[in-house]
Amino acid sequence: MSSIFTKIINGEIPAYKVAENDKFLAFLDINPNAKGHTLCIPKQEINKIFDMEEDHYVELMKFSREVAKALETAVPCKRIGMAVVGLEVPHVHVHLIPLQEMDDMRFTKKEKLTPSEFEEVANAIKESL
Ligand code: AMP
Repeated sequence: MSSIFTKIINGEIPAYKVAENDKFLAFLDINPNAKGHTLCIPKQEINKIFDMEEDHYVELMKFSREVAKALETAVPCKRIGMAVVGLEVPHVHVHLIPLQEMDDMRFTKKEKLTPSEFEEVANAIKESL
């Protein structure tokens, strides 16, 4: 069965997409730690990040870096935090989180956004790319 992220790639379920190329996709986390929390994923469905081929892994990091720089421009924050967890969704994803404080890296502290707030932050990131 396809992962929920493969369904996003295939357009079967909606997402607030911010960047895409032939190999990778970035979209907003639906249950963000902080406004602008973004996930960068490979289109190839791979469970664990360190099982990726080295070149593919490096390309994912380059893609994530580009998105992180746009995110830092778009969302006022002290810096962008990066994490890889994968306990919930078994499809590689890099979390990029605008940080104001250490608690923003805790995956138990969540921010509620309206659809228009998601749209607004997604557009701001896209415009900063
Ligand atoms: P983890 O696998 O523990 O790294 O966490 C998976 C992340 O994916 C969580 O932060 C979820 O909020 C996020 N997530 C799950 N489903 C969706 C979805 N349909 N769209 C956007 N983000 C999602």
